[in-house]
Formats: sequence, C-alpha cells, structure tokens
Amino acid sequence: MAWVRLLLKPGGNLRSGYQPGSMLSLAPTKGLLNGPGENSCFLNSAVQVLWHLDIFRRSLRQLPGHVCLGNACIFCALKNIFSQFQHSREKALPSDALRSALAESFKDEHRFQLGLMDDAAECFENILERIHLHIVSDNEVDTCTIKSCITHQKFAMTLYEQSVCYSCGATSDPLPFTELVHYVSITALCNQVERMVERNERPRPEMFAELLQAASTIGDFRNCPSNCGQKIKIRRVLMNCPEIVTIGLVWDSEHSDLTLDVIRYLAPQLYLPGLFYRATDERAKRSELILVGMVCYSNKHYCTFAFHTKSSKWVFFDDATVKEVSFKYVPCT
Ligand SMILES: [Zn+2]
Ligand SMILES: [Zn+2]
Ligand SMILES: [Zn+2]
Repeated sequence: MAWVRLLLKPGGNLRSGYQPGSMLSLAPTKGLLNGPGENSCFLNSAVQVLWHLDIFRRSLRQLPGHVCLGNACIFCALKNIFSQFQHSREKALPSDALRSALAESFKDEHRFQLGLMDDAAECFENILERIHLHIVSDNEVDTCTIKSCITHQKFAMTLYEQSVCYSCGATSDPLPFTELVHYVSITALCNQVERMVERNERPRPEMFAELLQAASTIGDFRNCPSNCGQKIKIRRVLMNCPEIVTIGLVWDSEHSDLTLDVIRYLAPQLYLPGLFYRATDERAKRSELILVGMVCYSNKHYCTFAFHTKSSKWVFFDDATVKEVSFKYVPCT
C-alpha cells in the first residue's frame, strides 16, 4: 500500500496560463470507469496522476515513435486514453484497453491481472519502466541516458550508495542505481517525526525531506568494508536533478492509526537535497519541489488528488467521479 506523492520542480509561474472565465480554464478533466469486479482503481489513480503531470503529458505527445507490442502495448493504450481525455465528450472514459495491455505485459509475473486489485505506486512505476522499454527497447534501466526517454530524463533519481567507515576510514565501491519511486515506511517516518517533536526542533522548510531521509535509512546498518568490526550507515548520493520526484509512503499494516499524523506532517514542498546524504548536481543542490499530485488508499480503494495547472485548482478523482476541491494550498511559485 502506498501513497504516491508527486513533486514537480517549480518551472516559472504555474498560474500564467490561467485566465478566469476563459475556455482555457475548462481544460479536460474526466473520470475513469471502474465497473463491478474490475478493481481498476489502482490503475485509474496512476493514469490520473500521469495525465496531470504537465511535463509527462507534453513529453509523451511529442514522442515520434515507439516499439509497438500490439495488444499488449502499454504505450499505445496510454496514448489512447490521453487522446480521449483531450477529445472525448464523455465525462468518464474506460481504461479497459490499458488494463488489458498491463495484464498481458505482466502475465508471466502474475501482476496486474484482470479483476485483481494491485498497488497504485507500483503500477505507476511499472508503467514508467515499460515506457522506457517502448522508447529505448533496452533492458538496462539503471544506465539509461537516452534523451527521448521520458522515464529516465524526467522521473529517475540517479543514485549511488556507499559505506564509509568513520572508524578505520575504509570505503566500499560505489553502487549505482536508479529509483523511479522513492519508498519510505510510514511507521519509520512517524517515529522520526516523534523524535523531532521531542527535540523541540523548530520547523524548517527542508525538514520534511530530512525526515524522509532519516526514515528511509533508519536501522540500515552495514558491516565496515574492511571488516574492522564497525557497523556503519549507508550513504545515498543523488547525482542528477530529476524534474519529477515520486515518494511512495508505505503503510506497514492494514489498520494503521497513523493516518492523522501523516496528514498533519505532509509538507507541500520538498527540498530535494535533504532527501539524500548528498546531492552532486549543482541544480539539485538548490532544487525545491512542490506537490502536484497524491494517490490515497483507504478501505481497499484508491483515489487521487491532482493539481490542475490551467485552472489552478485541485481536483479529486474517485474513478468516474470528479470533484473540484478547495485546498488552501496552491503550488504557485
Ligand atoms: Zn504501441
Ligand atoms: Zn530510459
Ligand atoms: Zn572500519
């Protein structure tokens, strides 16, 4: 179970495209159907977030071609939904074609099969991975530098991890990897928040990212690389500056009493370098991201909040139901 948090790098004034009362403010927002027994809310949530990410939507539109897999083509099915979001007169659209393509693609792994509920964050992550494969047709996801690959150019956090022993000075070989969704345990996060409250720390803008970092590294001790006997913490270093950062908050149990705490401590801004031990990219060192989308899970059901840039409004999506919500927070820079 996960909440997906999407944070987008401020790219100028988000309100600039909005003129009250104009046709521009009526840009398409549509629901996605989820018939009885279909259990497609996890997919619908992932699709709504992708559609409302302006960077993703525009980049996908501009892509010239892809390696097509016919009936199992997630790329075609997603593009088709996007085109219907734009042109259809219906208030709610079917997501069946994408659901089938997803089921077909993950048949061997027994994931995302028809009628079965699945995880929205993992669905989101897997759609992005498949898009990489459709564009690059190369299994090597950790080293992708292809300019047209939206997945890695826009979403991927390029990282390496290394242990450095504070006692004997030994360092391990850096291990590079990429992350499309950065998962953090809710319980660990709430423990970190409690510690912060005990220390009477005054809230700072970078605190939320630091709490996420502390929560994701807590208890992760390794042996010293030269086996001097010390147990040391792993360091994760960010090497690029992703435009979109996705955080998956993982609920450790079905019946968590931490929901209110999580809502209280979620911050609309994310100070990117605070999320890792260090950032090496100059832009990443100053990068602050703003919340533009959130997938929520409760009572075995997913729903989504997404920021609609053209109207500067938050919209709530519960499958076919679409409602404007009046959040006080507007990600305007
Ligand atoms: Zn295709
Ligand atoms: Zn790629
Ligand atoms: Zn050592």
